[in-house]
Amino acid sequence: MNTYRHFHVDGQLRPSTGTNSITLVSPVTEQPVGELLSCSKADVDAAIASAHRCLPRWASSSIEQRERALRALQAAIVKRTDRIVESLVVEVGVPVWVGRSMQVPMPLANLDAIIEGLHQVTWEEQIRTSRVVREPVGVVAAITPWNYPLHQIVAKVAGAIGAGCPTVLKASEIAPGAAQLFMEAVAEADLPPGLVNMVWGGADVGEWLVADPRIDIVSFTGSGTVARRILASAAGSLKRVALELGGKSAALILDDADLDAAVPAIVRRCMNNSGQACVAQSRLLTPRHLQQEVADRITAALQEWTLGDPADDNTRLGPVASLRQFDGINHHIGAALDAGATLLAGGVGRAYGFERGYFIAPTVFTDVDRTMALGCEEVFGPVLAVMPYDGDEDGIDLANATPYGLSGAVWSANGTRAMNAARRMRTGQVILNGAPPNPASPFGGVGQSGFGRENGRFSIEAFLEFKSIQQ
Ligand code: NAD
Repeated sequence: MNTYRHFHVDGQLRPSTGTNSITLVSPVTEQPVGELLSCSKADVDAAIASAHRCLPRWASSSIEQRERALRALQAAIVKRTDRIVESLVVEVGVPVWVGRSMQVPMPLANLDAIIEGLHQVTWEEQIRTSRVVREPVGVVAAITPWNYPLHQIVAKVAGAIGAGCPTVLKASEIAPGAAQLFMEAVAEADLPPGLVNMVWGGADVGEWLVADPRIDIVSFTGSGTVARRILASAAGSLKRVALELGGKSAALILDDADLDAAVPAIVRRCMNNSGQACVAQSRLLTPRHLQQEVADRITAALQEWTLGDPADDNTRLGPVASLRQFDGINHHIGAALDAGATLLAGGVGRAYGFERGYFIAPTVFTDVDRTMALGCEEVFGPVLAVMPYDGDEDGIDLANATPYGLSGAVWSANGTRAMNAARRMRTGQVILNGAPPNPASPFGGVGQSGFGRENGRFSIEAFLEFKSIQQ
């Protein structure tokens, strides 16, 4: 049993004085695997005060000092790779393979890009008669989810360090292990006391942070429902807010695409991390006459996505993270069946062969249309909607037919055609023909996927303010 009873303030551990205790449940055994003691309002106050004390010192730090701090932090995270992966397996049901190949490498690559970004930001420039300088915005509240917990913490906290801002982090109460190990790395990196503070808790603790007038900006990654509450609460003190929210990303297969390459890649980008990724390509858009060929290839591609114990090195697909996830995903699958979508694989309920645990078989529906909930609502689970379209115009229109706009993909043998389609997709990122991720490029959404950008230099710029000095 892991217990989380201390929060981080002024570079030190202090016992949480809250009264609310949260039990961590294994997604594999459904038994308790840990306990977290929420912070009290006084604890949150102490963390914000600590960040404030650090602000003048770190705001005036040099780029070299910030770079040294980020490099030390990165080295300390690397040392903890095994323990971070282990905590993800136990608390979130993330397979070891996903932990090792994505959950840890991604934030490390992002740290490289943020360090590079320190030298890409235009810190000062002359515009006509003005000296325009970019200054730290102040104290950051970073509120993060459980699905890629280390990545989301690093994207915000490392960006804030680069910008010259202290942070109060409220990490997900569902994946505290990754956050705890990140704070251990902060301690080892010998950062100034108060530069990175962390409080434990759920909605109440998050709300105290958002409402506090001493917080200058809230950087939030999570659900649209919580984002609306945060915006409303932040309005009270008119603070800046950045929101990284959900998605319903479309992979658009054009009629000249290489299906052998496209289909397994889309299945991977949908099923990875049990579909619990904001950028999951959960809609596969295919020319109608190719739907059957695509379906056959999906059936073949699913062979490698067998469910299993996340602690096993060979497992590609683990359980979903929580009972709430399990129930929500099953609700979506049931609704798709009721709406008349054709079930190609998987189905409702616990996957065949499992007597306990939040195991959901990789599930695929064909003949999904834009009027069905599955065609436009985020599932956040291992569920792929195959949606036929008629002609390129209809395909692009279908890609844009959700309120979201976080990611997307286009597959075509013709680079110009793929690029033209990408330009017309209303989304923050488009991946052409399975191109690899680029952590130095801006990441974020439009519409219900939120606003603001992070990663690389954009993680730093998210926490800067312009000042114009007229001469
Ligand atoms: P969530 O919105 O339930 O919780 C996110 C964080 O907000 C947690 O730390 C939680 O404790 C906190 N919180 C909850 N209520 C709050 C309140 N009233 N005030 C302040 N903080 C509060 O999301 P989740 O279930 O942890 O994550 C899943 C969601 O996150 C999905 O919708 C997913 O698409 C989205 N997501 C987006 C991205 C992205 O980068 N765009 C990345 C990952 C996840």
